[in-house]
Amino acid sequence: MTLSSRPSWNRWACSRGRFRGVRILDRLEQLAALGDRIGYSPEEDAAHELAAGWFREAGLEVEVDAAGNLIGRIPGGREVWTGSHLDTVPGAGRFDGTLGVLAGLEAVERLGSPGLGVVVFRDEERGCAGSRGCTARPDAYVELHIEQGPTLLRADMPLGVVTAIVGYVRGRRTFEGTPGHAGTTPMDVREDALVAAAEFVLHAREGARGIEGAVATVGQLTVEPGGTNVIPGRVVLSVDARAPDASRLDRLADALELEEPVRTEPSPMSEEIRAALRAEVEALGLPALELPSGAGHDAGILASAGVPSGMLFVRSLNGGVSHNPAELSSPEDIALAVDVLTGALGRLVS
Ligand SMILES: [Zn+2]
Repeated sequence: MTLSSRPSWNRWACSRGRFRGVRILDRLEQLAALGDRIGYSPEEDAAHELAAGWFREAGLEVEVDAAGNLIGRIPGGREVWTGSHLDTVPGAGRFDGTLGVLAGLEAVERLGSPGLGVVVFRDEERGCAGSRGCTARPDAYVELHIEQGPTLLRADMPLGVVTAIVGYVRGRRTFEGTPGHAGTTPMDVREDALVAAAEFVLHAREGARGIEGAVATVGQLTVEPGGTNVIPGRVVLSVDARAPDASRLDRLADALELEEPVRTEPSPMSEEIRAALRAEVEALGLPALELPSGAGHDAGILASAGVPSGMLFVRSLNGGVSHNPAELSSPEDIALAVDVLTGALGRLVS
């Protein structure tokens, strides 16, 4: 007997044809069939072409701006956009970005109100080139996105309203020691740069653990001279540290004392949009769980540019894994998310 390799949500969709979002699942499959879609690659182009066809089918006015972003609009009224991105990291899952575009199209089609638009931003994964280059500025932007973490799963909640996109500080630390013979230098006289760097790695972990919502990661380490029988004389390491608001990011940065730090401020989400999303979550009889986003998103770029922005997270299954083919949200959660997004856009556009 062989086990089916089809994802469980697909089996669920087949057996439960009444699910209104079954078209979303079919379109997720069509986009996944294009494979990895690095920003501005032929594969991302193909995804945009598919989406443009769906936008036209839905009766939207379609345009492509100078940065290559795809926008489908219903002209008139207060411009309230939803959407996300269709580019991927190498070896991606099928929900990151894609779900926000497809759910956004469902919501806009359902409402059909003047002013609504669906946007597909280019090249989000490598630094949000599309949203940074987007010159049109809507009056509000709401992005639905898979959480890409375990918070909603742990809380046993299908949906969450994002409070802010975390700020981050990135930089490096250098540790100097004295290189020497690994066999003849006694332990008590060594100045081992890697031992000092290792202590810093633990210090960074404790520093982040001591600040609610903060994280810190050492992802790169260069050890010189790099011989198996030479005491390390110099170590340079990278630090990526994030926190949900400016004061917590200050405290984290102070604790890490990075060289040449590069800082990006947190992007608070619009209170009006948070309230609209909370009201729609509560209308489903669910408590409105709020959480910060540890990952960057196009909504953060728009918020920083002065566009009132908000985000709705959908629970990630499989432990919250993302940037991985095992990334998963259930059809039930997606259906709830489309309902909440539709309701919130309806409140904002009128
Ligand atoms: Zn994304």
